[in-house]
Amino acid sequence: MKQVAILGATGSIGDSTLAVIRCHPDKFNVHTLSAHRNSDKILALIEEFAPKHVIITDETAYRTVAQSCNQTHTSLYCGANALNAAVQDTAIDMVVAGIVGNAGMASVMSAVEAGKILLLANKESIVTAGALVMPLAEKSGAQIIPLDSEHNAIYQCLPNQYRTGHRPQSVAHLTLTASGGPFWNTPVSDFESITPAQAVAHPQWDMGAKISVDSATLMNKGLEVIEAHWLFNMPVEHIHVLIHPQSIVHSMVNYADGSVLAQMGTPNMQIPISHGLGLGQRLSNRADLLELSEIGALQFFAPDVKKFPNLALARQAIKTGGTAPAILNAANEVAVAAFLEEKIHFTKISDINDRMLNSMQIEDVESVPQLIELDSIVHRRTRDFIRRLG
Ligand code: NDP
Ligand code: MG
Repeated sequence: MKQVAILGATGSIGDSTLAVIRCHPDKFNVHTLSAHRNSDKILALIEEFAPKHVIITDETAYRTVAQSCNQTHTSLYCGANALNAAVQDTAIDMVVAGIVGNAGMASVMSAVEAGKILLLANKESIVTAGALVMPLAEKSGAQIIPLDSEHNAIYQCLPNQYRTGHRPQSVAHLTLTASGGPFWNTPVSDFESITPAQAVAHPQWDMGAKISVDSATLMNKGLEVIEAHWLFNMPVEHIHVLIHPQSIVHSMVNYADGSVLAQMGTPNMQIPISHGLGLGQRLSNRADLLELSEIGALQFFAPDVKKFPNLALARQAIKTGGTAPAILNAANEVAVAAFLEEKIHFTKISDINDRMLNSMQIEDVESVPQLIELDSIVHRRTRDFIRRLG
């Protein structure tokens, strides 16, 4: 029986993880859950799973939950520091990092420091702090297993016993696939009028709002190129991207002998999560089975980086190195939030990212406190810039 902590249990990754765990009550026990603001949902999960520890990072939501929680088996904690301590509990075997954005970084570091098996969905933490996370995992013995579908696909296509953080031998390059989001075919002249509701309506995947907008701007793929760079220790030139609108081939490994291994499946996060939770065993889940005859054709196109500049900005950030990816990621978080609040047009997201990446001083990455401070500086400057844009 594996003891599992699910950070961001009330989100989309939390839903998919719990859906897999419900299929295997003999294999997994929900030891720890975290939520931020969704008090109703976390109360329902406490009722269902009776976890030992629950951390609610938002104070108001914590008070609401504390007043209504009848589960005597569960201890409730408040705040981000409690989260960092909770993931180090010696009883926990696996930590699912499903918090969205940089808010997930400190708990990822904490789980890695404690040598846990880290099932990583929170790509922003590796984009920002990859230079700290990967060496720390090497030192602590933590195993980092990617849940992001593309990186999980690559991980599945690498030889058995492959450990993340190492450059896979005999690999010529990696190919990340991208659905292209809802607008890959939309003329750029129509981009100004794109609404948040249109941007979050992803054609293939059902995900949280932030990552859905990132998919629509191709920032998600940009962040994933940086994520792949750190997870597989690959130079960015060896990480290719193809638009694949059917989202059936989740990514590929191109070996030096010309063989290309791809992982396929329906676009459902339960599949990579099952692979991660199963540690190589194939666990059943509720995802639909793939019927290729119903799909008919699989298409692949080169991405248009002029139309979607975020992809080029991500490559620029990783080549620049140091804090450049952290700056890009933090600026993007603010820009996406402003777009969702209808304060800026869709096209402004990449303009803002470009402006922040190219106007701030780049430093070496040294510590988590440095990155947390940088994050709040970038957030402030980006918000100021957006205010000036009117
Ligand atoms: P959601 O928005 O659906 O869920 C986010 C989760 O994080 C919720 O549990 C939320 O709590 C919690 N949260 C939000 N803000 C904070 C904060 N400041 N401190 C602590 N917890 C917080 O996001 P997703 O599940 O879609 O994405 C989660 C991560 O996984 C992202 O990094 C995303 O890029 C990555 N990912 C997601 C995929 C998907 O299919 N959804 C696919 C691949 C990667 P609450 O709801 O209680 O406020
Ligand atoms: Mg992905």
